[in-house]
Amino acid sequence: MSEGAQKKQEKPRKFQAIRGTRDLLPSETVLWNHVEQTAHAVFGTFGFGEIRVPIFESTDLFARSIGAETDVVSKEMYTFGGFAEFSERVRGGRMEGMLSEMQPEEMISLRPEATASVCRAYIEHSMQQLPQPVKLYYMGPMFRRERPQKGRYRQFYQIGAEVLGGSDAPAIDAEVIEMVMTFFDRLELQGVQLDINSIGDRNCRPKYVDLLRAELLKVKDRLGPDSQRRIETNPLRVLDSKLESEQGIIATLPRIADHLCEECAAHYAAVKHQLEMRGVIYRENWRLVRGLDYYMRTTFEITAQGLGSQNAVCGGGRYDGLVELLGGPSTKGIGFAIGEDRLILSLQESGKAPAQEGRDVYIAWMGERAHATAIRAAKDLRKAGFSVELPPLEQKFGKALGQADKLGAKYALILGDNEVSEGLWTLKTLADGSQAKYTEPDLLDHLRKSKAVSS
Ligand code: ATP
Ligand code: MG
Repeated sequence: MSEGAQKKQEKPRKFQAIRGTRDLLPSETVLWNHVEQTAHAVFGTFGFGEIRVPIFESTDLFARSIGAETDVVSKEMYTFGGFAEFSERVRGGRMEGMLSEMQPEEMISLRPEATASVCRAYIEHSMQQLPQPVKLYYMGPMFRRERPQKGRYRQFYQIGAEVLGGSDAPAIDAEVIEMVMTFFDRLELQGVQLDINSIGDRNCRPKYVDLLRAELLKVKDRLGPDSQRRIETNPLRVLDSKLESEQGIIATLPRIADHLCEECAAHYAAVKHQLEMRGVIYRENWRLVRGLDYYMRTTFEITAQGLGSQNAVCGGGRYDGLVELLGGPSTKGIGFAIGEDRLILSLQESGKAPAQEGRDVYIAWMGERAHATAIRAAKDLRKAGFSVELPPLEQKFGKALGQADKLGAKYALILGDNEVSEGLWTLKTLADGSQAKYTEPDLLDHLRKSKAVSS
């Protein structure tokens, strides 16, 4: 067999989206856009402005803020860079003089979350000079190398907000929570449950963590390998365990609420009071901790229905020391991140997804003159805000009407030579098959009115 013939027989590789990533098609993006537009609208009414931060940042930014011992940083980040130039030149065989010129390139990572980036931006743009607090929100893809399953992806999307600077008044915590709840309410998200907790601060938390570690060491043998490891690295995270066999043991562990310092206890009580003033219904959950190191005091999580075990749609909390940790001025901070994929899944499961809009008008045209008129009609209708399908090739009216039906068009505008010479256009309502003739201005008028009625 000649080489050419062999090539012909080989089937070209079929590519698929990488595991843990996926395409969102128009039938789904309708809902995604609805959710995002609602976020812009609701967050805007609370005085938040949108920030867009890069998809990748210095690895060190995430390691320092999220914590090197956390799962996110130690196992889940997509990290690259290093001596890129070096390896390229080794491959190219151009080694000469290289070692002296070589600059180690900074390691970079795809962002696993955006709070660190927002804090970096706050410092970089000296936002502490703006009126405080600065209220920002963002939306976009995040990347974590986790085992993909329902509601858990390697590229997933978050909608989040941060309040930076100013005071740590409990009313700020409550208003941020009220904003998420308002957003979910506007979307008619079902089965929404807000859990809150306080995890103390630099004064009281370390003492509690020591106590917790000591208690955990006593029962170490009865814990699974993950929790055993966390006794050393991150004992708070043991409280988070979903392992059935550990539940009885966890129930007997000391609770942070009993070990908060006076300031933290007062802050927590005031946050609860502020939530009540806003009519926000919450449940206290002493086992609620966050997986990232930077949180302190108020922490919260919101779950929704229809999601199985990945039912957390939002996680958030206060992180007063974070900006300082990243080299900025001493700054208060609180924020949250919503898992948009899970939010969408829950809305879909409960039938809250808006249907994909069909075309308003399908223009069935026949003949050269009619084509010219059809092009003009399409332009005018689109300018008036209608969604118009103008077929590129002439087709028999029967076929055109079939096409219009398949596309879910509301109307077919029929333009043949007769219509064009008479100046009377035929409009067919596809739902009931009724038909009427209009002059051009009357037709636009009629469609405008019908649109006003249906929307
Ligand atoms: P989980 O415990 O479910 O892994 P987490 O504590 O890692 O969540 P955060 O870092 O607080 O989550 O992120 C906030 C929200 O982002 C989560 O409540 C969830 O809705 C969403 N989220 C986190 N990781 C993923 C992922 N891999 N795929 C889809 N959504 C995610
Ligand atoms: Mg996680």
